[in-house]
Amino acid sequence: MRNLVNLTLPELTAWMQAELGEPVFRAAQVWQWIWQKMARDFEVMSNVSKTCRVRLAESACIVWPQIVSTEQSRDGTTKFLLLLDDGALIESVLIPSDDRKGKRRWTQCLSSQVGCAMGCTFCATGQMGFERNMTMGEMLGQVLVARDWLDDTRPDRPLLRNLVFMGMGEPLLNMRELLRALTSLNDGKGLNFSPRRLTVSTCGIEKGLSVLGQNGLAYLAVSLHAPNQRLRERIMPKAARWPLDKLITTLKSYPLKTRERITFEYLLLGDVNDSLEHARELAHLVGDVKGKLNLIVYNQTTGSPYAASDTERILAFEQYLWSRHITVVLRKSKGQDINAACGQLKADRRSQAAKFSRRSCSHFIK
Ligand code: SAH
Ligand code: SF4
Repeated sequence: MRNLVNLTLPELTAWMQAELGEPVFRAAQVWQWIWQKMARDFEVMSNVSKTCRVRLAESACIVWPQIVSTEQSRDGTTKFLLLLDDGALIESVLIPSDDRKGKRRWTQCLSSQVGCAMGCTFCATGQMGFERNMTMGEMLGQVLVARDWLDDTRPDRPLLRNLVFMGMGEPLLNMRELLRALTSLNDGKGLNFSPRRLTVSTCGIEKGLSVLGQNGLAYLAVSLHAPNQRLRERIMPKAARWPLDKLITTLKSYPLKTRERITFEYLLLGDVNDSLEHARELAHLVGDVKGKLNLIVYNQTTGSPYAASDTERILAFEQYLWSRHITVVLRKSKGQDINAACGQLKADRRSQAAKFSRRSCSHFIK
């Protein structure tokens, strides 16, 4: 059985032509049912002929990831633990924000791999190790689950506004499926997310970065977390194999759209990277890049060697950067009362922890 969620529009068109002898427009109709009307059953596809629907049901299916559990924070942040076809577990988080008119909008944090090979020392996913890449269908299945959960059925007025690839995994190490996912997301007759509503976050993978830059399918966020090579080697040993100065040089010539800026993520780890000297180094490092800086408050995980920074240190760090004319956003923690930092829910499952530890989601909201 072919899961149609895992086909791009050209692939679906070619498959329906070859397998069912259906014309191009028929595939476009089915595509719209899958992605805009969120159909999971061919029977409901009312503008598709009965014969075609029967033949589709014989050879294909529309399967989304299954919700194993959800955790909802008092602030509305909602975390999903999702089960994939082969039994793998991944996480996705929905983060609310209110627009200028006070209407609630959502940003979804998506996973791109089951686990992660990069082993960053502060990250629950990194400590879990790498299991496998996710397929395009699994990445986008998270969006279907969330839209269904939000009852987000009007494509002209979407409640789910932004998608950030900041969940489990390193998206640029799963480039093939990431590109298929981004291309499908961009499709106007599908989920219709323009590149400015999509952000891919990376710890800095040289080859992937140049591919992403060339095709401009999403905005870029880079996880820095350290202002110098030595410290980066300590807290992100694998990512730091690509030296920080080379990463920054590459980012200076990274192709950006008008008004687009690179987002730098900087996780504040108490007494590790949060001194004024670190802030000075950081300002120097990113000062010449067309970017903005997200300071993220660290959410301590069980067994982690790190702690969150003191509020005073955080504010002093932020203030110093402003004084150096760096655009800084201090990311308020969301989901404090649930364990909303990616990797943590699954880690807890694994360790059979009875209750969720206090974690918050610090993924950024546009
Ligand atoms: N692999 C990519 C994308 C996934 S990780 C990357 O590294 O950019 C995305 C973000 O999760 C990281 O930038 C980091 O800021 C955040 N993160 C990981 N562990 C965290 C924790 N314990 N508390 C707060 N944020 C965390
Ligand atoms: Fe992987 Fe990103 Fe976690 Fe590092 S921070 S281990 S790159 S998911």
